[in-house]
Amino acid sequence: MAATVPLLVGNKQREARAKSSGNVFNPSTGSIIAQVPLCTADDVNDAVSAAAAALPAWAATPAVERARLMFRYREKLEAHSDEIARLVTREHGKTLSESRASLQRGIEMVEFAAGIPSLLMGQTLPNIASNVDCETMRHPVGVCVGITPFNFPAMVPLWMFPVALVCGNTFVLKPSEKVPLTAMRMGELLVESGLPEGVFNIVHGGRDCVEALLTHPLVAAISFVGSTNVARIVYETGTKHGKRVQAAGGAKNHLIVMPDADLDQAAAAIQAAAFGCAGERCMAGSVAVPIGNIADPLMERIVDRASKMTVGPTDNGEKVDMGPVITAEHLDKVKSYLDIGANEGAQLALDGRKGDAGSGGYLIGPSVLDRVTPEMRVAKEEIFGPVLSVLRANDLEEALAVGRACPYGNGASIFTRSGYAARQFKMHFNAGMIGINIGVPAPMAWFPFTGWNQSFFGDLHIQGTEGVQFYTRQKMTMTRWFASASESSHDPIWKKS
Ligand code: NAD
Repeated sequence: MAATVPLLVGNKQREARAKSSGNVFNPSTGSIIAQVPLCTADDVNDAVSAAAAALPAWAATPAVERARLMFRYREKLEAHSDEIARLVTREHGKTLSESRASLQRGIEMVEFAAGIPSLLMGQTLPNIASNVDCETMRHPVGVCVGITPFNFPAMVPLWMFPVALVCGNTFVLKPSEKVPLTAMRMGELLVESGLPEGVFNIVHGGRDCVEALLTHPLVAAISFVGSTNVARIVYETGTKHGKRVQAAGGAKNHLIVMPDADLDQAAAAIQAAAFGCAGERCMAGSVAVPIGNIADPLMERIVDRASKMTVGPTDNGEKVDMGPVITAEHLDKVKSYLDIGANEGAQLALDGRKGDAGSGGYLIGPSVLDRVTPEMRVAKEEIFGPVLSVLRANDLEEALAVGRACPYGNGASIFTRSGYAARQFKMHFNAGMIGINIGVPAPMAWFPFTGWNQSFFGDLHIQGTEGVQFYTRQKMTMTRWFASASESSHDPIWKKS
């Protein structure tokens, strides 16, 4: 039997108290590589209590010292980047180059966090009233929790805890039970970077574990990334229990191609956006919207490029363009959408189900559904696999209407040579992250991940200065010192000598 993943509590790895566990698979082969404990309230209470006990000393540690930890952590992550990327590929299935790129995005979060002290500075206005000075300062919020999805085992946890920790909070991470190994290794490296006991902790599990975290009285704030249904539950339950919550959900992202676009460049960008990471990205370009008479030549280019992509296992150094999806169940779900689309009247221009037999892994090639219409399920629902829906439109107005009808609102891109069309799109498309001749407009660490509509529940987004605001609360102080009888209340700077 595969080894059971430990918890990280108070800087020590230990067995979970929970009796039940789940399987962790290698999606390239379908083999079980670990058992993950499904923690309940007891394990959660241990981790949250450790974080709460560590809080006073960590919050009182000078901000520059907390930031210095991130300089050391960054060096550890760099030194072990190959090992971590391989771990991501092993438990998630994305190609090694995709794993490396996603870890790099995560390391940039650590770099951002190392510079947070300047963002923690408050504001002052002396003499806001006669002899009264006013100032604000930023305080930590307390014990923070991170609940993360399977699709970026290194990057998404790194969106959260480096920022939370430098802001003076302590942290409990609950990684996806499908990919717990990367998080554990990153936790070990954080401890090795000199982290005081209990400042960062890891528990594992699914729904029961999450519910215990959402309702624990000592938890102050919750960061969640995952599907929209769960994001909504996490937001509602967390806020009902008095917690500050930021909850990022699922998406359906549109790629609009104007008639004046460079079709070769647009096709290459759409291919990468739709099929990169096997389509398992919340910023995947899952709906192409060609405008006018370029639809046929664009489709030809996309199908030609996609049909040449190599698909296979990724965990043994194989050079393939695309790896497996996460589980056998998810593979079935992705495949079922091809039938759903065809039954709704879409044309299956490329069927990735051909040629996936025999490997044992959860493989499916790129698929393209053409002539999709806005009311079809394949136009509205997140498939989260390598399936591109193509929704032909007559003009930009029609493309903007497609965006307005979409319940999600993460990303959208336009391919054009027209500044005016690009500006119209930027101003009026109903999504929070816009790309202009960029297929995946996912912001880097210094900018917020600004999902809209049902792609985000909360007020302050993850990443950038919004992340710092989320992990801090402001305190305002008004001060008045009284002059004694012998002292003048006039400023001597203005006295003429
Ligand atoms: P998921 O919602 O199934 O799981 C996310 C987390 O929630 C996991 O830690 C899981 O254990 C927990 N969870 C699952 N079901 C739960 C329940 N009923 N109650 C409480 N907790 C529960 O998501 P996933 O399949 O791991 O990840 C894919 C989803 O994440 C996609 O929808 C994708 O778009 C989304 N995602 C969004 C972003 C973003 O920034 N908006 C980024 C990455 C992924």
